[in-house]
Amino acid sequence: MMLRFAAAVVCLMILGACSKPEPIPSSKIEKHDFGKNGSGQDVDLYTLTNSKGIEAGVITYGARLVSLKTPDRDGHFADIVLGYDKIDGYLKDTAYLGAIVGRYGNRIAKGKFKLEGQEYTLARNNGDNSLHGGLKGFDKVMWTARDVSTAGAPGIEMTYLSPDGEEGYPGNLMMKVTYTLTDNNELKIEYTATTDKPTVLNPTNHAYFNLSGEKDILSHVLTIDADRFTPVDSGLIPTGELKSVQDTPFDFRKPTAIGARIEDNNPQLKLGGGYDHNFVLNHAEKDLGFAARVNDPKSGRVLEIQTTEPGIQFYSGNFLDGTIHGKGGAVYGKRSGFCLETQHFPDSPNRPDFPSTVLRPNDRFTSTTVLKFSAAK
Ligand code: BGC
Repeated sequence: MMLRFAAAVVCLMILGACSKPEPIPSSKIEKHDFGKNGSGQDVDLYTLTNSKGIEAGVITYGARLVSLKTPDRDGHFADIVLGYDKIDGYLKDTAYLGAIVGRYGNRIAKGKFKLEGQEYTLARNNGDNSLHGGLKGFDKVMWTARDVSTAGAPGIEMTYLSPDGEEGYPGNLMMKVTYTLTDNNELKIEYTATTDKPTVLNPTNHAYFNLSGEKDILSHVLTIDADRFTPVDSGLIPTGELKSVQDTPFDFRKPTAIGARIEDNNPQLKLGGGYDHNFVLNHAEKDLGFAARVNDPKSGRVLEIQTTEPGIQFYSGNFLDGTIHGKGGAVYGKRSGFCLETQHFPDSPNRPDFPSTVLRPNDRFTSTTVLKFSAAK
């Protein structure tokens, strides 16, 4: 009798333990050490977590998005951005993994442009051209972090003062980038800037995504809301034409696997070694509008991108060549990740007919991109 009673008590205790509801995690932000940069300064890692368990890691070196953990259709979380385990990887990185790139994301032809009658010469780091800000762009500088979390929305603001003449660009530029994780499963990236001299500016985020963890992203299904794209020359500089995507492998208006046409005998694909092109988004400029969606049939993960920017650079990771050993020793080979960089068009400072990238004193630069995560059954 006594034994049966004891067993019942144990059972109740076990059942009690089993049926106890899972505690609902609340959103939070945490700061961790992430080593030191080349000059011995501390690099910090901020981890933002929302109440659904989505987690984004951002470091003060290059304001880089170093991790992004989202659930698949079965609720299993995995990191969907390429990166390194430790700061050393980022210090040596030449592929801009997760970085904020600037002052000018993508290329400026021959590293030169004229503004208000004056010619400026930039640091050239890509053949004759200047790419992603030059030799030491925003991706390689230290940013100052400030916790700007509000109830239910952890957020980190990164500030960098780019001095007049840096990499050849005019004006002291006060640049801020804020990453906010919402309970709606969105990572919002907001950019603001002011300058004390006329200058040009086109910052973006250079995260490489792989939603499946497979060795390449060719079976990911992509939609881009663009009727036109900007064809390039052999230096990947836009020719100036806004070409219709109709009847080309650049038509992603209907969901299409990235790999479906990537090896087509198309001169633009040959020049890029795959996709490395700016798409002219259909939404009205300056409105936050739908830009692209990527759906991974294997995991069910879906990434949807909205932006206020007029363009998006779809880069299918063609230059990744297996020399990068990333997280957990993973070898990042050709097309192991893709970038969708919301931006103004490449080489706009030399193309008066493209939307302007000029920022003047007394004006305030603003730009917003939202990455939304979900899972399809
Ligand atoms: C560019 C590529 C470049 C890559 C560097 C992309 O934004 O479009 O041409 O090689 O960045 O990682």
